[in-house]
Amino acid sequence: MADLSKLRALVAQSCRILGKLNLTKEPSGHVSARIPGEEKLLIKARGPEESGLRFVQPRDIITVDFSGKKTVGEDGLETPQEVFIHTWLYKTRPDVQCVVHVHPLTVVLFTICNKPLQPLYGAYDPSGLRLLVEGLATYPRSITVSSDGLGQEFAAAMGQKQVCLMRGHGITSAAASVEDATLAAIKLNDAAVINYQAALLGTPVPIPQEDIELLVGRTRAGSKAVHANSNWRYYCKLLGEEEN
Ligand SMILES: [Zn+2]
Repeated sequence: MADLSKLRALVAQSCRILGKLNLTKEPSGHVSARIPGEEKLLIKARGPEESGLRFVQPRDIITVDFSGKKTVGEDGLETPQEVFIHTWLYKTRPDVQCVVHVHPLTVVLFTICNKPLQPLYGAYDPSGLRLLVEGLATYPRSITVSSDGLGQEFAAAMGQKQVCLMRGHGITSAAASVEDATLAAIKLNDAAVINYQAALLGTPVPIPQEDIELLVGRTRAGSKAVHANSNWRYYCKLLGEEEN
């Protein structure tokens, strides 16, 4: 079996970053990564011995199969109820290697009020802009995604998008790497904070379509990977840690 210690450490580091940034409520939320070549995933455990995201260590990351059953992990650490968000995204999207599910308050406010997140900024954060104009789906139900049937329904609602807003609940992001899925969750939260604060200050005006096309085209074409690397390094340093 492949050595999964590095991937486990990376998933734990993603949890700590999301926790440090207060992107979830209490101990809720989980990050997972597909185990290459197997119908299994590593996922942050819930249960009586669980840690809140901010405090997650590699021991908190258990192995689960695609039916949601724990196959490796300590006693007191259990499969999250909403593991089906993760299993169904891995089953239906071969491109997805990591899934993040968290409950960020400011994003949830927009789902409660049914207000769209508008493209209000450009050069401030071009990759955040791209996520807003290309990457959002919505899951209209507010329930816990705790069965295969609901997982399938959720994955269909998310489609091929990078992020799904879940009404009165939270968000899910999916990407080809742990770093990209984590950064998508962070950038979505930043977008919600800016939309919220701009609405408090006055009447937000979306940036011109011409600028959107220019900036989104640019992030698609070139510098995305470089920025993703340096952004990830920034958040690792914020934890006082090196990159895994
Ligand atoms: Zn949830």
